[in-house]
Amino acid sequence: KFITFEGPDGSGKTSVLKEIAARLTQKGTVEYLLTREPGGNRIAEKIRGIILDKQLGEMDARTEALLYAAARRQHLVETVLPALKADKLVLCDRYVDSSIVYQGAGRGLGEAAVAHMNEFATNGLLPELTLYFDVSPEIGLKRIARFRSNEVNRLDKESLTFHETVHAAYLRMAKAEKRIVTIDASQPFKNVVSAALQQLNKALPG
Ligand code: C5P
Ligand code: MG
Repeated sequence: KFITFEGPDGSGKTSVLKEIAARLTQKGTVEYLLTREPGGNRIAEKIRGIILDKQLGEMDARTEALLYAAARRQHLVETVLPALKADKLVLCDRYVDSSIVYQGAGRGLGEAAVAHMNEFATNGLLPELTLYFDVSPEIGLKRIARFRSNEVNRLDKESLTFHETVHAAYLRMAKAEKRIVTIDASQPFKNVVSAALQQLNKALPG
């Protein structure tokens, strides 16, 4: 089973994902792979490094979108597909939806164009379930300022307008796609974790 986690910056999805993984390990009944995008293996992590490196200066939006798609392709073929083949549960921090909202909507490349390019990269493979952690840019950005002040990268300097555009695109997408389940990520962390676990338990047999 392929399950992805999506959400704006500061939605807490990465922390929730780690907590869920810890509980799955404790339970010991499900074999899973916890992974992330962009990255997840050596080639894809290198591409991530290029995308995030603020020393490199301005990057063209299409170049950026292509690099995300390239990292995604390598991650899918080398990391995700083998795990799915081995019948593991794959929990992935970000996937195609992130590109559609960040590059398609946020950077203005067009959601359809980015979706199309990603169909090429993924051969159209989509997750069975996507948990979308919804949080307003106001709350999300405040959280980032508090918890991530030491982790500034090229993408942490976007305007509030950029984040609002991304958020609006996520909301539209979550409404339109049956595969996407929205979780209110403005709640306290432990409530977000239980809401996510509830959805996962629904999706997993046993
Ligand atoms: O997943 P995480 O929040 O760590 O993502 C790292 C950065 O990459 C974030 O600032 C996010 O906004 C950005 N990003 C992006 N386009 C994507 C995926 C992530 O701009 N397709
Ligand atoms: Mg994160």
